[in-house]
Amino acid sequence: MMGLKKALEAVGVRAERAAVPVKSLLVAWGLAACLDSDMLYMPGIGTRFVIQALMVALQEDELTFTPKQAPFQACIHCKRCQRACPGGAISPQGYDWRKCLRAYEDGPQMPAWVMERMTCLLGCEVCQDVCPLNHFIQPRPVTEEEKAAFDLGRLIAGDIKPALALIGKNMKKGGKLTAQAAVPTKTGPICCPFWRSRPREPTAP
Ligand code: SF4
Ligand code: SF4
Repeated sequence: MMGLKKALEAVGVRAERAAVPVKSLLVAWGLAACLDSDMLYMPGIGTRFVIQALMVALQEDELTFTPKQAPFQACIHCKRCQRACPGGAISPQGYDWRKCLRAYEDGPQMPAWVMERMTCLLGCEVCQDVCPLNHFIQPRPVTEEEKAAFDLGRLIAGDIKPALALIGKNMKKGGKLTAQAAVPTKTGPICCPFWRSRPREPTAP
């Protein structure tokens, strides 16, 4: 984001980070659809993306984008996310952020019930993993550098610099990375920074 801002400013275009409701705008413009899991889905991309907005100062004759598509539905309401969600955040009543594990990841320490249900260090990912709309996305291989950085013994011993270099310093707060690595869960210690592909249900609901 900051790289793009600098690049624009280098060619004389003023740009500022914009606090606008990006999710609602993309849905209203027909560029994305909101799913039962509360994830945003884009055709050809799935739900595994992050969006940030920049506000740019352009002359009127430089404005070329005119949204033309009507809003669309994508969710097939198969309930796979509802069945798989470790927090029980997705139900016929909708999505409840208070039960979503992702809502507790930014603070220095996560509540015990969240720690117990985590399956990887970054995000929760379960609802995205089981969603058939994402099944065309394959996990990429983990590199040797990444494996070494997230070695369980290394993280528990507090040697977290190589891992932080890959995932950012936010995970350092309150010894979070080491604490999470030391927590045993049903699927093993949560030292893996990546989502693990789970056995998938047949595509037909
Ligand atoms: S898993 Fe099924 S119900 Fe849940 S968001 Fe994906 S398509 Fe919709
Ligand atoms: S991120 Fe995890 S806890 Fe949150 S809705 Fe998805 S599966 Fe549930």
